[in-house]
Amino acid sequence: MNSSDLLSLTPQEMQARFAEEGLPRYRAGQVYGWLYKGVPYAEMGNLPCELRTHLEERYPLTLPRIERKLTSAIDGTVKYLFSLCDGQRIESVVMKYEHGYTICISCQAGCRMGCGFCASTLCGLARNLRPSEMLGQIIVASRDLGVRISNVVMMGIGEPMDNLDNVLRFLHLVNLKEGLNIGYRHISLSTCGVVDGIRRLAKENLPITLSISLHFTDDEARSAMMPINRKWQIAELLDACADYFRSTGRRISFEFTLIQGQNDSPGQARKLAALLRAHLGAGTPLHVNLIPVNPVAERGLLPSERARVDRFCKTLCDLGVNATVRRKLGSDVNASCGQLRYSEGERSVL
Ligand code: SF4
Repeated sequence: MNSSDLLSLTPQEMQARFAEEGLPRYRAGQVYGWLYKGVPYAEMGNLPCELRTHLEERYPLTLPRIERKLTSAIDGTVKYLFSLCDGQRIESVVMKYEHGYTICISCQAGCRMGCGFCASTLCGLARNLRPSEMLGQIIVASRDLGVRISNVVMMGIGEPMDNLDNVLRFLHLVNLKEGLNIGYRHISLSTCGVVDGIRRLAKENLPITLSISLHFTDDEARSAMMPINRKWQIAELLDACADYFRSTGRRISFEFTLIQGQNDSPGQARKLAALLRAHLGAGTPLHVNLIPVNPVAERGLLPSERARVDRFCKTLCDLGVNATVRRKLGSDVNASCGQLRYSEGERSVL
C-alpha cells in the first residue's frame, strides 16, 4: 500500500500511524472524520495549524477531481468524469431511487477484459484504483450533490476481481461506521466471470450481492464476445455461483444484455432458464436483469426492440425465473460504462 495514502487506512491503522509519528492518537479520529466528509486539510478547523501543514506535506490528499459533470434532464441521474492524481480518468454515476441514492463506481482506470459490447475496455487497462480512490468517488459525489449515498454498485469501469485485494479493502472501509457506514447488503459487485475471484470472494463471506455479467447461453457466442469465457466457460462459472450461494446465502443477480438478433430470441430465454436451473438448482434465489445493449458506435451493436425484450422477460418468468427489465436511467448523459471516458480520451488525443 502507498505509505502516504491516509484514506486507504482503517481508523486503527491511522491511529497507529499517528502514534509512530509521535502525534496524539485522538487526532487520528478527528482527521478520519474530516477525510470522509471530503474536507481539505486547510479546512479541518479543530486541528492546529502545524499539524495541518505536516499532514499536507506527508499525506497529500488525492481525492478524485470532477472534470465533467452531466445531469440528466430526464431523471436527474448524474454522471461524473473524474480525473485522478496522475491524470487517469474514471467515471461514476449517481442515480436516485425511491430508497435513496445509489452510486456506480469504477475500480480500475480502463479494463483488460475485452468484452465486445463495452467501451471501458477499448483502450485496455491503465492501472488499478486504490481503496481510497474508490472511496473518493463516493465522498466527492456525495459532497458535490449534498446527499447521503446509501447504496454502491461496483459496475463502472474495470473488473473488480482483477483488483481484488484493493476491492476487498475498499469493501471493509466503506462499511465501517466511523466512515461511510454503508451496509454490505447495500453493495453489489459485478464480474464478467472471473471464477477464481468468485471463489475467493465466497471465502470472505460478506453479505454483498454478487452480480454476474452472463449475456450468453452458449460458450461459442460468449467466448467470441467475452474473452474471459475462453478461460472459464459457462458451466464452471455457474457452478462457482452455486458454491457462492451455498457459502453466503446471498441471492445472485445475472445481467443479460440483449443484442438485436444475437441473443434475444424466446429460444435463448428457454435455454437460459434451463442452464440456471441445471447449475443452481430450482431453490436457489436468483434474479435476471435484462438490459437492452447500449449502442457503442465502435462495436456496431444494436439494442433489441422493446417487444422482443418483453417477450424474453415473459418467457423467463413463465418458466419460474425471476426476471425484470432494467429501467434505463441517464440515457441522455451517456451513462453506460466507459463511454464518457473513452470519448474524452479521444477528444484529448485529437
Ligand atoms: S463489461 Fe466490465 S469486465 Fe467487461 S470490459 Fe467492460 S468493464 Fe471490463
